[in-house]
Order: sequence, then structure tokens, then C-alpha cells
Amino acid sequence: MSYERWARVEVDLEAVRRNVRALKGRTEPGTLFMAVVKADGYGHGALPVARAALAAGADRLGVATVDEAVTLREAGITATIQLLSEPPASAVDLIIEHGVVPAVTTRAFAGALGRAGAARGIDTPYHLKIDTGMNRIGVPAGEAHEFAAAIDSFPGLQLEGTMTHFATADVPGDWDFEMQLERFTSALARMRDEGIDPGIVHAANSPATILHPEAHFDMVRCGIALYGLHPSRDTYGEIELAPAMSVIARVTFVKKVGMGEGVSYGLTWRAVAPTTIATLPLGYADGVHRVLSNNMEVLIGGARCAQVGRVCMDQFMVEVPRGVTVDEGDEAVLVGAQGAESILLDDLAERAGTINYEMACAFGMRMPRVYR
Ligand SMILES: *Cc1c(COP(=O)(O)O)cnc(C)c1O
Repeated sequence: MSYERWARVEVDLEAVRRNVRALKGRTEPGTLFMAVVKADGYGHGALPVARAALAAGADRLGVATVDEAVTLREAGITATIQLLSEPPASAVDLIIEHGVVPAVTTRAFAGALGRAGAARGIDTPYHLKIDTGMNRIGVPAGEAHEFAAAIDSFPGLQLEGTMTHFATADVPGDWDFEMQLERFTSALARMRDEGIDPGIVHAANSPATILHPEAHFDMVRCGIALYGLHPSRDTYGEIELAPAMSVIARVTFVKKVGMGEGVSYGLTWRAVAPTTIATLPLGYADGVHRVLSNNMEVLIGGARCAQVGRVCMDQFMVEVPRGVTVDEGDEAVLVGAQGAESILLDDLAERAGTINYEMACAFGMRMPRVYR
């Protein structure tokens, strides 16, 4: 049994493949490429995006949770899957069974992972995560060599790589970025002095991949740019990216309202003259954040229509401009192009007071996805 919901996310997988090639084109040959597909591929669907990225030359996948990794494995993905942070120790058996490579930031977890590996007679690969200034997770840069030396002696473990994460890679010429890079290279040098090979060294997210070639090391980890979205205004002039996500709905209801009539909860918008109102079947539970109420537009019939009244959980309304005819079933574009007009996810994110990362994730919550 199936039907077509009148609201959908369209994902252009050719755009994903093109973006992977464009990003890889900015790295030295031989640099590994991790496609970050956490949060269900930033709302685009982790599995189809993973397949497209791998087909276009990605070497590995990055995810945030053990569930995300297991889901990809069970769907038949054989590429290396890395966890970008350390999972709970209760996950060590799942991780080993599914061949997932975790990040390590605590001795307790390293011990649990090592014991589980040793019990199976294998050395479990892991990446050491060093905190160089973001102060989120990671072994403090000044202690990384001691930490690495201590867990190097644990049985059942194998250091496959060493990583850090930047807090300000999207700001060109930022001093804090330079400081993080300096702390990272010093920590790597001290590890080598201790006789520890840091393995695959990696630090660059999308903005660092685009703006900071000096931070590419052995592998880059690209998320947002994979989806054709720019991590900041400063990357627009640097690389051509193709947005993969469009958000499309069909008009479910059209009506005339008289002067002074209000629309939606609280009647926060009122018609100043008789007008036409069209209803669309998606709302804040689909990613149209309620803060966008009375502050966004959609494209219908190639025309920009202002959203009016509060965005509801499952629906919202727009005013049809004079001279435009709209019928039930007509297509409305929230994100993407229609005729000569287009709306970027960035436009919507800015109006919502957030970033394209969050908007993309939100549109992935409940809407069906269609791939082309
Ligand atoms: C999410 C994440 C990335 C990808 O970041 P983008 O800015 O989306 O490219 C890379 N590394 C880590 C550790 C992350 O958590």
C-alpha cells in the first residue's frame, strides 16, 4: 500500500556526487575523504547519500551514533564507518560486531573496547580525539601523548588515526583557528616523540577543507558541503557547490477571505483587503520552524507568495498575489527553483535565525524523500 504525500523532500544525488568530486579536487591526491552522513545525512537520507558519495570517490563514512552506523551496515554498506565521538562503553560489542571505528576520548572507554577486542583475540581500531580548543570532547592537547602512550599498552586496541575538530574553521584568517592547528601539530609531534604513530591524521570539516589546505593532513571530513550547502558566506567565492535538497508541497485548499478576516492560530495576520489564501500540508513537525510564521515565502506558479499567519504543526497558509491563479494540487516550492525564481535553504535559515545545517536536518524529520 502506498500513496503520495503532498509534501516531500527531493534529493538530487548527482549533486552529491558532483560536490564530492569538487571537494576532493581541493585536496592533494591520496588525501582520504570521509563523507559525514550523521543525522540521517543532514536530513537527506544517510543511505542513498552514503552510496552516492562512495560512488563518487569517498573513502569512508562518518556518523554520530552507534545506531546510525549499524543501520548503514545492515543496509549493506561495507566501507569503513567511523564514529565522530566516543560512544557509551555498553556499545563496544555492537561496534566490534559491525566493524565500526570509534573515536576514543576516555581511558574507561578505551579499557572496555580493549577488553572486548582482546576477548575476541583481535586488535580493535580506534581514532584518538584530541581537544585543541573547541572544548567539546577530546583529550586535552597537552596530555594527548601521555594518554596515547598509556592506552597503547592496553591489549585489544590499535590506534588507526588521530583527529581534532575546529571551532572557527569558517572564519578566514581567524587566530583561534591558527592556535588550534598549532596545538594539534605539537600534540602529534609529542606522540611521535613517544614512539607512537598517530596513523591517519585528520582535522578538516567542510569549511577547513575549502578554506584551509594546510589543515587537510591525511583525510578531510566533509558534511554540509557534500549536500551542496555552504558552511559560511566566506566559502561562496571559493567553490561551486550544487544544493541537493529541494522542498516541495502541493496546495491542499484554496479559499477567498474577506477584508479583516484573520488566518491561523491567534489570527496574527489579517487580510487588509479581500484576498485568496492557499493551504499547504506541512508544518513545524516537518521542519518549517514556527519562528518562520509571517516571515517566509513559497513559489507557486512561478510567483512568490508570502506565508501568512502562524505555521501550524502540519500545515501553513500563504497569500496568493493578485493576478496569480492557484488551484488545489498545484506545486509549491519552499526550497529550490520554480520558473525563474528560486529559494535557497540559506534564505530560509537566515529568516529562521539559524543555519542551513539545522534547517536541512529539520526537513528530514517527517517528510518522505524522493531521489533523482
Ligand atoms: C559534523 C562533523 C563534521 C562535518 O562538519 P561539516 O561542517 O558539516 O563539514 C566533521 N567532523 C566532526 C567531528 C563532526 O562532528
